[in-house]
Amino acid sequence: MVDSLPVATRQGDSWISRSTVLYPARMMNEATWRLAVFATALLACMVAERLWCRDPVPKRRGAVIGANLAMGFVSALLLRFGLPWLAMDAAVWARESATGLLHLLSPPAPLEFLIGLLLLELAVYLQHRASHRVPLLWRLHAVHHSEAHLDASSSLRFHPLEALLSMLWKMGVVVAFGIDPWAVLVFEITLNAMAAFNHANLRLAPRLNRLLGSIVVTPDLHRLHHVIGPAGTAVNYGFNLLLWDRLFGSLQRPPTTARGAAAALGAAPGAPLSAAGLGRLLWMPFSIKNMLNQRIEQ
Ligand SMILES: [Zn+2]
Repeated sequence: MVDSLPVATRQGDSWISRSTVLYPARMMNEATWRLAVFATALLACMVAERLWCRDPVPKRRGAVIGANLAMGFVSALLLRFGLPWLAMDAAVWARESATGLLHLLSPPAPLEFLIGLLLLELAVYLQHRASHRVPLLWRLHAVHHSEAHLDASSSLRFHPLEALLSMLWKMGVVVAFGIDPWAVLVFEITLNAMAAFNHANLRLAPRLNRLLGSIVVTPDLHRLHHVIGPAGTAVNYGFNLLLWDRLFGSLQRPPTTARGAAAALGAAPGAPLSAAGLGRLLWMPFSIKNMLNQRIEQ
């Protein structure tokens, strides 16, 4: 589908559309690139986890990693075959049909690219906050919070319906603002790679941790989002940058005490579903038991 995209027609357009290559979709298979970058990031994180491990790895972790990878695979299949368009296709359509607020404002191309990235970051930030506030969304998102140990594979532990809703939401934002296709491509690739990084069971060197933690979401910062109880979960919603958490007052730094640092992870009170297999994870949002245990983080 992406290979047959027509040429952009917007007049006086950017450094992108003036070139003969026009859009990333024309020079590469977007899905292949996304998969290749994510697989590389995932593998790099898994190797790094062995070298600079933060928490002891629980027994039978291999089975959980398998279930997490399977969840990612099912989500990818659902998006690929369940939707006629993905965010990138929506961006190219918006560009060609001169749709969206950014088309009306027509900022310089580099600024438009940057605004596109920040808008997408804001979109997933707001979606994540809503997922913790709206009961129906939390039922899906709780699957991601249902393990008591985090590693890079946890970045794939999203219910496929949540992945579907997320894609529809991003497509809506992309069309409403007419976000640059390049910004969409860079954002999607970065989001996947950063998710693998900030879920990794990784202990960074203190200086590097401080340096990265002043700009982007590090494993320490995102781990706090997964902590059970008032100290966690309702903080650090960002996936890439700390910008929106800072602006909306949801940024929290990890505690420095040993007790705080060792706080338990997991969403389900009492018995996290860490060891659940693919079928149980897929069924989790619909189970009566889960309905009774439902809770919304504030
Ligand atoms: Zn969350």
